[in-house]
Amino acid sequence: MSETIDAAGIDAWLRVFARAVAERRDELTALDAAIGDADHGVNMDRGLQAVLGKLDERAAGDAAGRAAGDAAGVSATAVDASGEAVGALLKTVGMTLVSTVGGAAGPLYGTLFLRMATAAGDVATLTLPEWSTAFAAGVAGVQARGKAEPGDKTMVDTLAPAAAALEAAASEGVPAAEALRRAAAAGQQGMVATIPLVARKGRASYLGQRSAGTQDPGATSSWLLLEAAVALVAVTEP
Ligand code: ADP
Ligand code: MG
Repeated sequence: MSETIDAAGIDAWLRVFARAVAERRDELTALDAAIGDADHGVNMDRGLQAVLGKLDERAAGDAAGRAAGDAAGVSATAVDASGEAVGALLKTVGMTLVSTVGGAAGPLYGTLFLRMATAAGDVATLTLPEWSTAFAAGVAGVQARGKAEPGDKTMVDTLAPAAAALEAAASEGVPAAEALRRAAAAGQQGMVATIPLVARKGRASYLGQRSAGTQDPGATSSWLLLEAAVALVAVTEP
């Protein structure tokens, strides 16, 4: 795979994530039925369908821009919106999630992408170290917003170890595909480790001891986000 990420890569990543959430919507909702209010899969699927709509609008804008460029005799790359700033795309995604997911997860996933957007900035491509720094900033934003620490049985249990693994791999100069695999593996461990935990944040915390024994729904959707990146590099790897 390419060692840099651009708007087209983020577009592809989110499409894979949206498909995974749609496919596992009922599973996510069943986890939330056990320790919450049975809406996490529905919430996330609704938000990601809205994100897909935004991605399609953006792709249509690219095509229109190319056609206009052709008509004006301007080279395609001069008007191709695929050179769009990574930050702008991440911001659109974050705002869409905030306004469509609802529940606790909407503002938290929204914050993840909005903070990533700010950290990424108005650049066309990010290197792996830059991407890992942006992702870590997003996860720190989730923690600041939800006041959850690893071990509280939330999406932070998946995201925080994944961000740490990604940053470690990036600083070691590990190729991007392997770095993303390590991040997903660390996130998966954190996700599975939520099963015996008693929830200390969110709706599941109202259940006290009865929240133990179920994998956290948000930790599970966050792992799908990490897995989407792994699935993507697996198909684009030479
Ligand atoms: P709601 O709990 O409002 O119904 P969802 O069901 O969509 O929202 O999302 C529930 C998930 O949100 C939980 O499984 C947990 O991972 C995550 N969550 C809830 N509260 C927090 C928090 N304070 N910090 C981090 N994540 C949280
Ligand atoms: Mg819920």
